[in-house]
Amino acid sequence: MYRRIQQRQSGQKGILLPVCVVCGETPPKGIAGGILVSRCFICTRCEKEIVRSRVGDSRYSEIKEGLKRIWGYVKP
Ligand SMILES: [Zn+2]
Repeated sequence: MYRRIQQRQSGQKGILLPVCVVCGETPPKGIAGGILVSRCFICTRCEKEIVRSRVGDSRYSEIKEGLKRIWGYVKP
């Protein structure tokens, strides 16, 4: 099931880095720089924004789209 996480090959051979479903970026710390939600990766920065975000915030729609992708993975 692990392979459903979006991954990107890093410069170092054999090391795969997760890609955040919200911002599409890979944190410098890799998997340690975020959390896994329903097998999808969210970086710490986006996680904090999700916690703080409210309807009407400039980044709310972007975060919402990222979360939709997660719920999409969850559905059978
Ligand atoms: Zn992110």
